[in-house]
Amino acid sequence: MHIGIPRETAAGETRVAATPETVKKFVAAKHSVVVERGAGSQAHFLDEAYEQAGATLADSSQALGADIVLKVRSPDSQERQHMKQGALLIGMLDPFNAPGIAELASAGLTAFALEAAPRITRAQSLDVLSSQANLAGYKAVLLAANQYGRLFPMMMTAAGTLKAARVVVLGAGVAGLQAIATAKRLGAVVEASDVRPAAKEQIESLGAKFIDVPFETDEERDIAQGVGGYARPMPAAWMARQAALVAERCKQADIVISTALIPGRPAPELISAETVQGMKPGSVIVDLAVERGGNCPLSEKDQIVQKHGVWLVGYSNLPALVAHDASALYARNVLDFMKLIANNEGELAIQEEDEIIVACMVCKDGKVLRSA
Ligand code: NAD
Repeated sequence: MHIGIPRETAAGETRVAATPETVKKFVAAKHSVVVERGAGSQAHFLDEAYEQAGATLADSSQALGADIVLKVRSPDSQERQHMKQGALLIGMLDPFNAPGIAELASAGLTAFALEAAPRITRAQSLDVLSSQANLAGYKAVLLAANQYGRLFPMMMTAAGTLKAARVVVLGAGVAGLQAIATAKRLGAVVEASDVRPAAKEQIESLGAKFIDVPFETDEERDIAQGVGGYARPMPAAWMARQAALVAERCKQADIVISTALIPGRPAPELISAETVQGMKPGSVIVDLAVERGGNCPLSEKDQIVQKHGVWLVGYSNLPALVAHDASALYARNVLDFMKLIANNEGELAIQEEDEIIVACMVCKDGKVLRSA
């Protein structure tokens, strides 16, 4: 098959969907690969390296005009104009955005939204949510450390002792657990909250303290189990108790990293404006949920702002700030997914019955199959 790698055009998107390493593997599997000139430049993958890996360099319309187009973000209307009817599109296509999926369908595409892959062991190597959230959790802590006017580790010096920073992590999924691990490595004292009971052991295994919001009814305990590993919206009474406890912990904290999400819904509000008001001057909140409305109503998308003396970091695309590694991992996820789409003879061989394909295929030959 003819595989195209266009340059990403979304604002602030620095990643690329294939690297010289994965291109080499596509070529070895008898595909021809067209890479748009400069597609990897913001992630420091040079055109020459793609050429050496066996790709042909071309302009965007040629890369977008391939049989299989590999993208990071969903193509916009201009990009779609260059895509062929019946072409295959693989990327992070935002499966909960029904109008966006309908647009892909009306362009006659067969599209696979990688975020919709089930969180099963077999799908781990193609799990884009995990590969990217892990880097986001790491980068969030570095951004916080940079914004914070003090140090993370306790330091005993001849001029006196500096206290370790206190970090609160809200949401201990992939990003949150990496944030805990990174903050611990930098020497902070860390505590974390999650609604799923399974998270307690994971938080504690990283040496952080679990902020426990006890369940008061069977219903609360039941909902907190989540579905498919994902959280569900908790009853208002539990959320109120959590908010009170979070407010108390945030008052003591120097850094808050919030990552709480519920699939297909606005992010839960965990840090109220009042809680921010009660926080120490110079403390920092990094709100990873900002794209979905934020865990704090005061955070602003793609901005660093100071409110009530507290820094709020609202960058929505943290993996793009570590574009080389984020692209390398994403490209390997895509390569792994491609094994369910094409064989080693360069031919299309979509494993339509496979549960990963069923979950990810959002439209086929112009028809919407599902938006997650
Ligand atoms: P996510 O990004 O959807 O959500 C982030 C975290 O926010 C989750 O841990 C969630 O429980 C938490 N959250 C939601 N509401 C909250 C609230 N009110 N207070 C505190 N926390 C709240 O999650 P994710 O990182 O994508 O992980 C989702 C699940 O997938 C997890 O159970 C994870 O262990 C699992 N997972 C499985 C695999 C696999 O087996 N292949 C791989 C990666 C992740």
